[in-house]
Order: sequence, then structure tokens, then C-alpha cells
Amino acid sequence: MSLKRQLGLDILEEKYAYASDPVMGHTSEQKIPDTWVSTTCGYCSVGCGMFIGVKDGRAVSVRGNPDHAVNSGLLCPKGLSEHYTLEASNRALYPLLRNKRGKLARIGWDEALATMAEKFRGVQQKYGREALGVLSTGQLVTEEFYALGKLVQLGLGTKNYDGNTTLCMASAVSGYKRSFGSDGPPGAYEDLSQADVIFLIGANIADNHPILCQYLDANPSRTLIVADPRVTKTAMMADLYLPLKPRSDIALLNGMIHLLIENDLVDREYVAVHTTGFDQLEESVRKYTPEYVSQLTGLTPEQIYKAALIYGKANAPFIGWTMGVNHSTKGTETVNVINNLALITGNVGKPGASPFSITGQCNAMGTREAGFASSLPGYRKFESASDREELAALWGIGVERLPTSRGWAYPDIVEGAVAKKIRALWVIATNPIVSFPNLGVLQHSLDSLDFLVVQDGFHPTPTTEVADLVLPAAIWGEKEGTYTNSERRVSKVNRAVNPPREARSDFDIFLDLAKKLGCYGELFPGWTQPKDAFDEWKQVSAGRLCDYSGLTYELIERHGGIQWPYPAGTTEVRTTRLYSDGHFSTENGKARLLPVEWEPFPEQPNADFPFVLNTGRTVEHWHTRTKTGNVPILERLSPNAWLEMNPRDAQSLGLKPHDHIDVISARGRVKGVELRVTEIIAPGQVFMPFHYAEANANRVTQSAFDPISREPNYKQCAVRVEKAQIAPQYWGVRGSPRARVPA
Ligand code: SF4
Repeated sequence: MSLKRQLGLDILEEKYAYASDPVMGHTSEQKIPDTWVSTTCGYCSVGCGMFIGVKDGRAVSVRGNPDHAVNSGLLCPKGLSEHYTLEASNRALYPLLRNKRGKLARIGWDEALATMAEKFRGVQQKYGREALGVLSTGQLVTEEFYALGKLVQLGLGTKNYDGNTTLCMASAVSGYKRSFGSDGPPGAYEDLSQADVIFLIGANIADNHPILCQYLDANPSRTLIVADPRVTKTAMMADLYLPLKPRSDIALLNGMIHLLIENDLVDREYVAVHTTGFDQLEESVRKYTPEYVSQLTGLTPEQIYKAALIYGKANAPFIGWTMGVNHSTKGTETVNVINNLALITGNVGKPGASPFSITGQCNAMGTREAGFASSLPGYRKFESASDREELAALWGIGVERLPTSRGWAYPDIVEGAVAKKIRALWVIATNPIVSFPNLGVLQHSLDSLDFLVVQDGFHPTPTTEVADLVLPAAIWGEKEGTYTNSERRVSKVNRAVNPPREARSDFDIFLDLAKKLGCYGELFPGWTQPKDAFDEWKQVSAGRLCDYSGLTYELIERHGGIQWPYPAGTTEVRTTRLYSDGHFSTENGKARLLPVEWEPFPEQPNADFPFVLNTGRTVEHWHTRTKTGNVPILERLSPNAWLEMNPRDAQSLGLKPHDHIDVISARGRVKGVELRVTEIIAPGQVFMPFHYAEANANRVTQSAFDPISREPNYKQCAVRVEKAQIAPQYWGVRGSPRARVPA
């Protein structure tokens, strides 16, 4: 602090000056911009429209776009403070290469990309093309995902490519594919305003998708049913709250189907014309009587009856779900049971009624549509010869260059590195040291690599700190393209400010790497900007479910986002739903009713580890806090991790509110977490947020994955809780690099 300030002569007049602005009203003068740049929020998949206020080349404020179809001007705390991420002190600024002394040292872009190309090619020549793995994200723009898919699969020639979307939405994707024949959420947000019943299962939208709550407010006559083991903020809004036991949702849903059949609340005509498998489904749910379901779920038979009859008698019932369903070894099948419930009542693609996955990241949908990881671009199937031939013809390449099956999913790439089958890894805009389950395995995996490249907008992160090469990337606000939100709305993302120092957009990094690899001319002929990718992607998506061919950047901007499908020649911009005509993307056009059995979750509590740990999120933070951890207002609102425990359990352990405790599983220990004693959590269960590197919940979570989607089972593992032995300030620093991770 300056002497003048210490003496009270400098009152920071400029910093605290207020002024009037026609848009912002009476506000801090520093927040009044010269121009507003329209864009879309870069955090979650709600996809709120917003403006970035720019003054002297800096982002000084944001505000919601009052005309945007999604949010009508509202933003949640993360969106309202998003501009702070652009100038955060942890932005990655320069390419860094680990030198002979083991330190990351600054280098130029040319050397960085030449080194990357040489190392990747070297590993592939020595160990085979598939020895290179790529882990991307849901944070890039669709144009970048489209370019990256081509670069990885055709340029680098490895199919061991996946995104961190497998950690959040893979089960929704697999579930849609199994039931409907294709990925693609059928409904729209508007359905939340039109439904007479809204059934949220494993979805805490009040914390995780807060702006969706406005649709509930706009629909006061709806009945809200919430099924969740924890009394979340969303559960507190419910008309009927179902506090079911962890991972008993399949039993509840089968029990509801049982009752709908028994009470003749099935749409027999719809089932006969548009589905297959009803007889097998009916047989499979016969045993799910209210009494049996009551034993499995902990709900009363009356609660189960009530939920079934409210849903079954509704004109337009909507089912929404998020990670409570997906984060499970049974995630895909739970999605199938949700779809069964909607299908037997004919409630798919109707105004107000659909099964609807509420996606996680701002553009997880974009990578699913265009990304070439779990599907060929345009929801084409690896296994389909006609899909491969069509795509090869569009790209002008030999069909033999397209893989006939997908490569390893995220967990298999990690385990492949442990087994020394993956020798080099490229991690893009994700932070697996904090986000991947069972940290010990992940660290072993990264330690086993010959070369690790981490491309990120932020450094240091726990993962960039262990990289051999760090590539600094532009983030939201610094680049152009499109995001697709949960309801298939394609919205425009615009550049408001320049990336800091030497950071480059991911798009430019991909093109420059392609030049080093010698495949730029073939894969990206003449491309210089994201629009070049968008124009090609429009052609590739034409005629597919996710048809972009009628979209242009100008049209998207003008309408504040447009939902696909939007084929060329479309003249009216309106709400779209999938499967409204009852025709699905399966071979015979019928949806599949798939019998699913309830099973207990894999790691049950026991004498050594008597609690079920549930992990999740809080409204103030985003994923591993690489973005929000340096936004002062968010960090002040939620600076530390905590563990929620029921008062009865706390009493039996002799623990008090605000005690610091350790959480221990068979795999590791999280130290010094603050205890919250609360009725929000049921006896025998505990809850901890997963955002905090310094209290990394994934030290204790397990390596258990959905066998179909490969999504991790983050939601249940067995732990015990002990009073912490060491005061929290002594047990480590933020981050957990592989060489220095606190024990
Ligand atoms: S709800 Fe999601 S998209 Fe909207 S402002 Fe918040 S984080 Fe951004």
C-alpha cells in the first residue's frame, strides 16, 4: 500500500467513483463499458445469452441479454461475474516446456508445436498409432470440436479420443441411443413452462442450472416432484419430495411403471404403433410392487402410488435428470427406464412432455454432435457402413480411414496409460487430477506417460503443473464460434477481448498443429477462422437429426439462438422437439422399451466404512474451480469444501458443527474438511462438493464405471469420518501435482 494511501490522502476516488449509465443505471464508473459484445455464457449448458461490457480493450462487466430466448436477461452468480475469469491471475500466458531440470520454462509457439508433433509421432512410430490418447472437454466451441475430431482421428490417426463429457453426460447419450436409436434430447426448456407435472430425478437445478428455475416460476400450476436422497434446494421447492435411498431410482421408476400398467394409465395405441418390447417390459416390472419398491427405496407405498398416479394422469408430464442419474454404474439403464416411463404414456416430443437430460457444460452438446469421439460427426454410427461411406464421401477421403468402432473411452484411456498402452496424452481444457475418480489411479496413469501435453486457459492447475508441455489457450470472451445448450439451441459465442499475452484460441492451435503434422491442406483446406469449420459442419450435418444446414451466424445472432434441427430452406424459427411424430431413429422407426433390473450400488457401506458418500456441486463454483476459484465474489461466497452429516450421526461420533474432519475410504483420505451438521442429509449418508483441489473428493471415490457409457459412479462410495488430526492450514497447498501431491 502506498504511503499516500496509508496516510488516508488517497481515498481511491477513481476506483470507487459512481456514474449513471443508460443501460446499467447508477453503478460503479469502472463497470460502464464503451461497447457491449453479445455472447453466450461459457459455464453451464443452460446457455444464457449475455453481453460483455468492454472498455479500453478490457472486459469490465457483463449483463444478461433481456431478449435472449433462454434467460430473458437473468444470470446466475457465475454468469454475473464471468468477466473476472478473463483477467484472473491464473491465466496461462505462454507455452511452457519442461526442461532438463524438471521445471516448466517458457518457449515460443513454433518450438512448442514442433515438439508436440515430434513427440506424438515418435510415440506412435514406436508403440503404434493408438498409443496416443486425447482427452478433451465440453468447453470448446463446436467449430473447434469439429476441427479437433478431424485432426485427432484423421491427422494423428488415433481413435483413443474422448472428452470429459464422459464424466457427466455419457450415460444420457448411451441411454438415448439405446431407447431412441440416436443421441439428442427430445424436449425444450419451454416444456418446463407448459408441463402440468415436472418430475426431476437426481437433478438439483437450483444449484446447478439455476436459471431454469425461472421456467418453474412461470408455471405456478404445475406439480413438481423431486426424487433425490438429499434435501437439495430443488427438493425444497417440490410439491412432492421423494427422499429415496441412494441408487434406488430404477426401483422407483419400475414401481411407477408397474402401477401405471396396473391402473390402465398406459397409452396402448402409442405403445403399439411407436414402440417395441412392451410385453417384456410388463413382465420385468411385475415384481416391482409398491411394497417391494418401498423396501428398496425407503419410500412409503403411498408415496410411490402418489408419484405414479400424478405422473400417469398428467396431460403433459416432463422428466428432467442430471448427474444423480448419470453418475452411476447403472446410469445408462436408468436413462432407459426414464425413457420407458415416458414412452408407455406417449410423452415424448409433446409440448410440455419429454424425457430430458439437462446437460452439464456449455457445449457438451457440441462435442456430441460434431466431435468424432463417441460417434462419427452428425450422430453417425461407427458401426454403420453406410454412415461411414456417406461421411467419407463428404470429406473426399477413402472410407478405410474411418474407424469401424469407437476407441477407448476416458476411463479406458487412463487405465491404458497405467498399462503402458497409452504412452502420450493430450489433455484439452480439463483438469483430471481433480475431476477424475480415484486420484491414486489417475496419478499412476499420468506418471506412466512418456509425454503429457495440457492445453488450457489456466495455469497453474493441478494438471498443467505435471505436464511436459503446456499450451496457453484463449477462453470464453476471447474467441468466436457456437455452443449448443441442453435444448439443442445453437447460440453464438463472440470475441470481446484479445487473449492474454501469447494465448491462442484452441481453433488456431489445432490448425497450427495440423500444419506441423503436414495434414492442414487435406483436412482444413484454406481454413483460417471458425466460420470455415461451421460452413463445412453445416454440410456434414445436413439430413441428420442434428441438421445445421439452414443456420448462419447472422440468423443465430438475430434470434438469440436457434434450435436444431434447422434444415436448409427452413423459414420459421420456432421451438422444435424430437420424435413428435412418433418416428424414432432406430432401424424400424420404433423406440425400444428396455427392461432394467434394480441392483445395489457397487460399494456398500460396511463396518470399516459405514457412510455412503455423495459428491456434487454448489451454485458458486464450476467444476474444479480453475475458473471460479479466482473470481473474488464466488470464492468469498464459497471458499472451502465441507462435509454434510446428519445430526444423529454427528452426535454418535461426538462431532460438532465446524469441526474439521477427515473423510476416508479404502482408497484414500481427504483431510481437514469442515463439518456441516444438517438434516439436509439422511442418516448414514454424507455429502461433499467435488470442486476443491485442496480437499479433493476424488481421493476417496472409486474406479467403478457404467459398463455401457463408461461414466464413473461418483455418487456412492463407502467412507468413514474421523476428527482431523492436523489443523487444515498445515496439510498442504492448493493443487496436487503428481510429484508433490500431499499424502
Ligand atoms: S445458469 Fe448456467 S448459463 Fe446461465 S448464467 Fe448461470 S452458469 Fe451461465
